[in-house]
This record gives sequence, C-alpha cells and structure tokens, in this order.
Amino acid sequence: MSDHAPPLHADYAPAAPPAALPRPALLLSCVVPAYNEEANLASFVRALAQAAGQLTPQFEIIVVNDGSRDGTHEAALALTREGLPVRYLALSRNFGKEAALSAGIDHARGNAVLLIDADFQHPLAMLPEMHKLWQLGYDMVYGVIADRSAEGGAKRLGTGLFYRLLNSGNRVKVPPHAGDFRWMDRRVVEALKSLPEHHRFMKGLYAWVGFKTAALPFVPQDRAGGQSSFNLRRLGSLALLGLTSFTTIPLRVWSFIGTAVALAALCYGAWITVETLLFGNPLEGWPTLAAGIMLFSGVQLMSIGVLGEYIGRIYDEVKRRPSYLLARDEDHSPLRGESRE
Ligand code: UDP
Ligand code: MG
Repeated sequence: MSDHAPPLHADYAPAAPPAALPRPALLLSCVVPAYNEEANLASFVRALAQAAGQLTPQFEIIVVNDGSRDGTHEAALALTREGLPVRYLALSRNFGKEAALSAGIDHARGNAVLLIDADFQHPLAMLPEMHKLWQLGYDMVYGVIADRSAEGGAKRLGTGLFYRLLNSGNRVKVPPHAGDFRWMDRRVVEALKSLPEHHRFMKGLYAWVGFKTAALPFVPQDRAGGQSSFNLRRLGSLALLGLTSFTTIPLRVWSFIGTAVALAALCYGAWITVETLLFGNPLEGWPTLAAGIMLFSGVQLMSIGVLGEYIGRIYDEVKRRPSYLLARDEDHSPLRGESRE
C-alpha cells in the first residue's frame, strides 16, 4: 500500500477547482459490497474503520452481503458484535455488484458516501485526498485505474473496445477505466437514487448525473484473499448491459449496414439488367445467389437478435421489479438519528 495518495491527474481533473464551499462536518457512509468475501471482510472493515476514523468520528460502514455462499454472513455479524459502527444489509440472494451498491447507496445516511470494494484492491490511503477534494467543492471524486498492465491482453483489448463503443457519439462520456471506487456528495447520491431504472449500469449512471467531478489515478492492489467474481462471461454481460442501456449504436449499426447492402443490391440489379440487354441472358450466377442468400439471412438474424436484446431490456424494465430485496438489516450505525432514508 502506498504511503500517500497519488497527485490529482491533470488529464482528468477540470482546469480550475470549483470555488471552496463551506461543507458541513463530515458524516461519512462507506458502502462495501461483499460477495464471498469471508477471507477479507473482517480485516478489511477494521482497516476501513481505522482509515475513516482519521477523517471523522461520525462514520458508518454499510456492509452489503450480496447473497454470499461462504462465511461472509457470519463474518459480518461478528463485526456488528465487535462494536464497530457497522450497518449490515443482507440481500435475499446474489443480485450482482450493481444492485449491492444501489442497496448501500439507498440506505446511506451520511452527507458523503464512499463506495469501496471489500478485497483491499482500492487503496485506503487515498481517502484523505478524496476527502480534501470533496471539501474543495468537488461533488464526486473517483479512482481511475492508471495501469492495467497486470491484466491479460484480451481483457485490456476488450475493455478498450468497450469504452470506445460506449462513448462514440454519446453526449454523456463515461470516463474510461474509472471503477466504482468513489466518494460522492449527498447531492450526487440523491440524484442517483432518483433514477428509476431497474438494471443499473452504475458506471454510466455516475457519468449521467454529472456534477463537479475529479479523478484520482490509482494502481489497484492485488486481491487480498479469495477470487474475483468477474469472469469473462460476467464481464461480457456487464459490457452488454452498459452498451444497451447507454447507447443505441447496436441498433443503428444495422440501419447503416442495411442501407449499404440495399445500395449495393441496386447497383448490382442495374448491372444485371444492362448485361442482359446487351449480351443476352446466359443464366449465370447461381453460386453468387446462394452465397448472397446465406450471408444476408445471417445478417438479418443477427439484427433481429440485437432488437431482441433491447426488447428484453424493455420487458425487464416495465416489470418494475425492485433491483434488490433485503433479507436482513442490522443497524449499529452511529448515524441512525440522521433521517435521510
Ligand atoms: N461483488 C458483489 N456482488 C457480486 C460480485 C462482486 O457484491 O455479484 C463485490 C465483491 O465482493 C467485491 C467487489 O464487488 O467487494 C468487486 O468484486 P471483484 O473483486 O470480484 O471484482 P474485480 O475487482 O475483479 O473487478
Ligand atoms: Mg476486486
């Protein structure tokens, strides 16, 4: 763990910081999503309590157990008995990290909310810097992964392509390589809570709400214990969620392809007519016809699939089911008196 937070990154930070605001005394809510984190949870929450305690005596740690199948539940209950300012929320099953974060955000009562992973990958040493920027008037301070060289080539390539697609032609730019590690003012939290969608692609929502933001580059540390829950399949479905909830590129691409194909077909048709008129009709071109039919029926099926993806998304949204369900809520937080829920 580095001793001090890295300096503000010039590429991401706005040129001039906003005018200093008289921020109220810090009441900090730390949201920690945990899925199968029995190896890390206890030591992480203790370390987080120590780091947060250096910023303010008034803080709560909201542990959201996202339907873990290991000893995370027992570890979290033990923490509440230890006298730590923990609020323990257990979801009724695994709803995914985005939903776990939403649950934490919905129940946070501080005037600032910190989102941080339970696996020590997000450096606690950056908290004082985030706090300072919040006091300076930034409403959201987020960590940007400065170095992805530790990740495999395929993952890096995929991530690069994803952000390129996500941000092409979109008014709301999602900062590349910014994760969920972030410090948010109450105003941002209220804005996020007011967004009604059920499938929540958080990285897009943070960007969508706007406000004054600053980025801090960081190098993620190695996972302390356990395993990452995001394999290629889960990352792929998260990418699909991001693209379909924040862009219509997959839909538009087919209009362009369709127009191009129609134009080509028109030219080809004209050419056949001319050829037949000039040179007679020698009945050629069956292989071209067969290949063409196969190619374009494939293209059509693919485009129907893309439509299906969006229709499925619409269907999911109109059902209006909640993003998560709580099975348990143990409140040992000193911010209990704050009525922000
Ligand atoms: N997590 C969660 N629900 C899930 C998957 C992950 O709450 O379904 C939590 C996990 O416990 C951790 C954070 O989200 O605190 C990041 O997950 P992970 O470390 O597996 O992802 P990575 O860091 O590899 O992107
Ligand atoms: Mg991790």
